[in-house]
Amino acid sequence: MLAVNDPIAVFWLRRDLRLHDNRGLYRALAENPRVLPIFIFDRCILDSLEDRADKRVNFIHQTLRSMQERLAEAGSSLWTFYGTPIEAFRELTNRFQVSAVYANHDYEPYAIQRDRQVGELLRARGARFHTFKDQVVFERGEVVSGSGKPYTVFTPYKNKWLQRLKEEDMASLDTASVANHFVKVSKTFTFIDLPDMNFQTSGTPIPAPSIDEPTLRDYERNRDFPALDATSRLSVHLRFGSVSVREIARKARAVNQTWLSELIWREFFMQILHHFPHVVDRPFKPKYDRIPWRDDKVALERWRAGRTGYPIVDAGMRELNQTGFMHNRVRMITASFLCKHLLLDWRWGESYFAKKLLDYDLSANNGNWQWAAGCGCDAAPYFRVFNPWRQTEKFDPDLRYVKKWAPDHLDADYPRPMVDHAAARARAIETYKRALQGQGAEPLPQQASLFD
Ligand code: FAD
Repeated sequence: MLAVNDPIAVFWLRRDLRLHDNRGLYRALAENPRVLPIFIFDRCILDSLEDRADKRVNFIHQTLRSMQERLAEAGSSLWTFYGTPIEAFRELTNRFQVSAVYANHDYEPYAIQRDRQVGELLRARGARFHTFKDQVVFERGEVVSGSGKPYTVFTPYKNKWLQRLKEEDMASLDTASVANHFVKVSKTFTFIDLPDMNFQTSGTPIPAPSIDEPTLRDYERNRDFPALDATSRLSVHLRFGSVSVREIARKARAVNQTWLSELIWREFFMQILHHFPHVVDRPFKPKYDRIPWRDDKVALERWRAGRTGYPIVDAGMRELNQTGFMHNRVRMITASFLCKHLLLDWRWGESYFAKKLLDYDLSANNGNWQWAAGCGCDAAPYFRVFNPWRQTEKFDPDLRYVKKWAPDHLDADYPRPMVDHAAARARAIETYKRALQGQGAEPLPQQASLFD
């Protein structure tokens, strides 16, 4: 039982919801006789969510519940708070003699500001604040050019990333020795339930990752076909840290280099957000600010609801609305459709995905949306306009994906295409070209249709 005057160390869980191979947790347990693991349901984030059955909150809650069960078996426990981080640490430091707080690095702009404030409070109360790299193989400025500059093009970034990679970068901690430390916390604390925070169960089960070797070996052959279960479904687990990126990277390196590249894309966009924080609400390439996006909320609503009359687009949006997931190929098609066919601001699409995606991650979402709109670093050229019909023929030839998510696509009352592909494509290219004129835009290729 924890006595009020016993000094304790706190381990603060954030994007690292696992007990195994968790660097900050391991250090907290290894360096302190008593450790209190906590999670804060942060009102600064939760209060802005519109959906009271938000799938992310559910995922976090379910994951914490299973961690709590494992800790309880070892006679210990998690303490969950509902409030702001500052309130939680005030309460903790008022009730206990907190000697130190341990956590893993969190790179988003809000998290950086939050950690600065918490660090100040802790310093004022005589507690140390230690943070560690955990959610990435390489972070921030670890992969830079010879002259120390961040990379803005993926391939040289990837080459440098691979060149730097050593076994120890992917080494996992000894799980048994971590588990032996769990007894250092006694079971005294309560666990907050969703209704206590005015949330409900969403009913969405935690998606199981599939990283079996046959799936990974055939990754590049099958990954673009949305009807196949041919990608890892790890994104939500990487987002919330319910898997260790080091274990995943080891597996990827051993089994499939293309799949490893996808993990490197994740870190590429993270370092872009770190070095170029203006991308949060502005294009990476400032000249793309000149594009006159259409102000058409009705069109936006049809896209959001999956009522565009393009079955592959509608299937994707409905998959997203119903499950919180959308296959990557279809994310590219729906994003391109919004920016190019409808000429709507990529930020509108980005913010809708942010609301709905179970795996929502600021850097990946922002980087990919800017890629689709043509305004990001290493983005698709502006004259590349995905042709939804051709994409369907290529990647969903027997319409299995379309039939699953838009079974009404042959019904009499299914909407007619809200724009004509050829006309919308010509409008997009002309609008971009005019806006970027004299701004050093990429020249139109001879055969623009190659990019359809
Ligand atoms: P796999 O194909 O098995 O890939 C393995 C892992 O690599 C993924 O889990 C993910 O962590 C990473 N990864 C794969 N592709 C990308 C990529 N293009 N960019 C960055 N990381 C990648 N991914 C997110 O995790 N969060 C987002 O908010 C997000 N928003 C996106 C928005 C748009 C418009 C587009 C086109 C893509 C977005 N992606 C996002 C990337 C990608 O679609 C998902 O990571 C992928 O579909 C998740 O499925 P998976 O785990 O089966 O991926």
